[in-house]
Amino acid sequence: MNGKKILLIEDEVKLARFIELELKYEGYDITVCHDGREGMTAINQGDFDMILLDLMLPGLTGIEICRRVRKFSRVPIIMLTAKDEVMDKVAGLDSGADDYLTKPFAIEELLARMRVAFKHCGGGEIKKSILQVQDLTIDVEKRVVKVGDNLVELTKKEYDLLLYLVQNKDIVLTREQILNQVWGYSYIGETNVVDVYIRYLRAKIDETYQKKYIHTIRGVGYYVKDE
Ligand code: CA
Repeated sequence: MNGKKILLIEDEVKLARFIELELKYEGYDITVCHDGREGMTAINQGDFDMILLDLMLPGLTGIEICRRVRKFSRVPIIMLTAKDEVMDKVAGLDSGADDYLTKPFAIEELLARMRVAFKHCGGGEIKKSILQVQDLTIDVEKRVVKVGDNLVELTKKEYDLLLYLVQNKDIVLTREQILNQVWGYSYIGETNVVDVYIRYLRAKIDETYQKKYIHTIRGVGYYVKDE
């Protein structure tokens, strides 16, 4: 058992299942997502040692995921793709991927590339101690929120809600997702609690600093928008 945590984001279910079984056999601890947005959420919530990332994905493309991850992490990323055009390869590497594998590939080839990527990256795991949206920053370790140099004082729930929004910036989150994530699946009570806390956050952040961080998609949910 090597115990390294791998996230595989691949929408071809059969291929994903095959890679999952092979990597498990090799002793890796593997998590599989079949959708780009789901994958981004997993990245924001887990500590992975490596990401295996398909290029063409529903939700968010591999390139976009890679760009986002590189804003806060040097975790090794290997791109998997059916395409072998030079432009895609360049775009993948430009977005910060460490390596690139064209499908179909032999599993031994993937395992070898993974070992190389681990060596090069010194096993750097996802570390995102400072998250940023525009000039709003969250120091995750210290649980400190600032707008520019100004400290923003939040209650625990306000902080949890803001953190979840910022971890998923530019992604629209439904009230149900927010409720489940921030209040927990076992939460029983008014479902408009999300709207109430969004109002609290807006009062403390958007209104105080005369900026628009938190956006509403009517009938769907909320998201924070980067520049
Ligand atoms: Ca695909």
